[in-house]
Amino acid sequence: MNTQNKADNIQCLTRVRNFGKNLLCNNSFSTNSLRLIKFCLYITFFYGVTLLLAEFYDNPFSSIGDFAILVSHWLMIEVVVFGLFYIISINKYVFSVSFPIIMVLSTIIAYYRYTLHLTLMPEVIELLLENDLRTSIDLVSWQLILWIIISFTVSFFVTIHRFRIKQIPCKWFHCIISFLIIFVPLNMEMSINAIAKRIPYSIFFTVAEYIDNHRSVASERPDFDGLVKCNTDTMTVVFIIGESLRASSMQINGYERETTPLLCKEKNVVSMSNIYSDYNLTHLSIPHFMTRSDERHPDRAYTERSFVSLMKHAGYSTAWLANQESIKSFLYFMKECDRLKYVSSGKVSYIYDKWLDTDLLPYLDDELRRKEPRKLIILHTVGSHWYYNTHFTDEYQKFIPVTNSKILSSNTFEQIRNSYDNTILFSDYFWNQVIKRLKKRNAVLIYLSDHGECMGEDGHFIHGSVDNEPQHLPGCFVWYSDIFASKYHDKVDALLFNKDKRYKSYFLFHSILDAADIKTEYIDNHLNIFTR
Ligand SMILES: [Zn+2]
Repeated sequence: MNTQNKADNIQCLTRVRNFGKNLLCNNSFSTNSLRLIKFCLYITFFYGVTLLLAEFYDNPFSSIGDFAILVSHWLMIEVVVFGLFYIISINKYVFSVSFPIIMVLSTIIAYYRYTLHLTLMPEVIELLLENDLRTSIDLVSWQLILWIIISFTVSFFVTIHRFRIKQIPCKWFHCIISFLIIFVPLNMEMSINAIAKRIPYSIFFTVAEYIDNHRSVASERPDFDGLVKCNTDTMTVVFIIGESLRASSMQINGYERETTPLLCKEKNVVSMSNIYSDYNLTHLSIPHFMTRSDERHPDRAYTERSFVSLMKHAGYSTAWLANQESIKSFLYFMKECDRLKYVSSGKVSYIYDKWLDTDLLPYLDDELRRKEPRKLIILHTVGSHWYYNTHFTDEYQKFIPVTNSKILSSNTFEQIRNSYDNTILFSDYFWNQVIKRLKKRNAVLIYLSDHGECMGEDGHFIHGSVDNEPQHLPGCFVWYSDIFASKYHDKVDALLFNKDKRYKSYFLFHSILDAADIKTEYIDNHLNIFTR
């Protein structure tokens, strides 16, 4: 038994040793494989301090702790960048093709990030490919071409260096390790978003999102049938989609701070102070008030067209002016409009320079100048979205001190509240600018925020991470011109009668059609604020 066991043990040990030898592939593993890993570490570091830094350099921080968090994010992305360079460098021919492509594309994106603060987003791709080729050509400067030449030259020398590393043994082993380095962080909820929005992975994820968005818009929704009639020849309807504005932080609703002084002075303003949104996130909320969706038919948000189509049937010229990125869940409605303009292409919540709703005004002026007598203009604003300080100018920094860190917990409650209230003050100015432009018209403006915001309730802030009541109570108001008031006093009376009533945000679809003086069987008067 002993002799047999010993022989078995020796055989087993030999197998393990051989496996180990195969795995290490004799001495060449420790030389060539280590050279390859070192090579990848060097190029990852180089990429990190040149191109990847473009995604971080303007992030605000106020303490060593904040800086450490930023560095940890940078490091996390560096890890997956290392995984990418590692996997492509296993085969020198794959490397020689893919590395220059990654470098040149990253260089172009980093260039626009440094110079124009643009981020790669589906809208940017659309702008380049579809919207306005002339504008795209304008964006090509000699500096950009110089950057590309430098990037290509660097890639060329790096590729030569890769060719100097001879035979890499155990390629499958390197493949598994590099695959794990990439796919473990990409499958973690805490890191996927940060990685997908930044180079080099943003190249892949944004193109995929662009294709996916197009597919979803291409799936046609049936048009409304039946009679649609408009009783007025001339009318301007403006719908402002607000962002993260809670009704209780508006002075017009009794908030103790002067956050909406101009709105309070305006005579034809009715604040709908008791609106409830079933949803507390932009992409979930918008499809439900754009369509005939309600509690019993939430599916309509994803299967039916919006009020835009009905208004087009009624002879309205329609436009969507976007100061926010498009999201798949409501892109369909943006495309439903006759015209779609992106005002803020390339701005995402990772960017911390000014991102203001007043940028919409020149585009609004263009729309108002158009000859069509019936107009629907939708303004999708960025309003009071976190990071608050980017959404108001210095002139509107009335409540101080404001936040000085993008890490929420590094700021005090007062700082967060001050910054938030300043965004409302700036929105008040923006609304005033829109109203001014509409005063001499037969016009009505409806403002509805997509959802509310948490301001310290139960120790929580902003929206989305936990779900509580303040996030479901959005700000909402209606303004109408004197001409509108004289023409439609029944509607105005009904509006004043209904102003404190609790409506769910589904009211919007029905009410905006009635405000536009449209008669259609699709209006449900129970959800119409312009009727008693
Ligand atoms: Zn939102």
